[in-house]
Amino acid sequence: MKQLIRNVYCVGRNYRLHAEELGNSVPSEPMIFMKPSHAIVPMDGSTIALPGGRGEVHYEAELVLRIARDYRPGMAVDELVDVMAFGIDFTLRDVQNKLKDKGHPWTAAKAFLNSAPLTPYTVFPGAADTAAEDFELRKNGEVVQRGNIGNMIFPLQEIVDYIAENYGLGEGDLIFTGTPEGVGPVATGDQLELLYGGRALGSCTVQLGSSSSAR
Ligand code: ZN
Repeated sequence: MKQLIRNVYCVGRNYRLHAEELGNSVPSEPMIFMKPSHAIVPMDGSTIALPGGRGEVHYEAELVLRIARDYRPGMAVDELVDVMAFGIDFTLRDVQNKLKDKGHPWTAAKAFLNSAPLTPYTVFPGAADTAAEDFELRKNGEVVQRGNIGNMIFPLQEIVDYIAENYGLGEGDLIFTGTPEGVGPVATGDQLELLYGGRALGSCTVQLGSSSSAR
């Protein structure tokens, strides 16, 4: 998966039950934040170092789109996206709650190194057909999140149009499309595995510790 990664966009609160489980209102337009490309790390079975001593680190399993070409108005998602993956939008939840209270940006809670593990890419079946199968996150073999793209508040077409019109969208950009309900904390040694349609796409083991060390 050593393809160029440019901008990494993320959609917040894109599933109603997830917005509600965190006590957040459901947004009236897509809520976009970003991670640096340095946050991306392959979900290839290896151990991933995440910040320790900064409160709870939550997993958020998400469908990730890879943009194949520069956006032009009127383009359909199916023309724009060639492959997809699944990823985890790791979040320092306690840090995020403090930032929210202060009205500060989310960078410290969302954009840290290794905060975006990504499975290998798989064929994008088209926006309509992505909902034909559920995706799942398993923690130590137990299903902790199950989602379906059909339950998104803002569908894929609306997300790509919104991002392109406001921030720009081109080849090599990634979009983390939001997480369903069931988010929760990880501890050192936890094994996380992402599946789509029952098919395992990637896994990693978590190690909480220094916030600056690489894998
Ligand atoms: Zn997320």
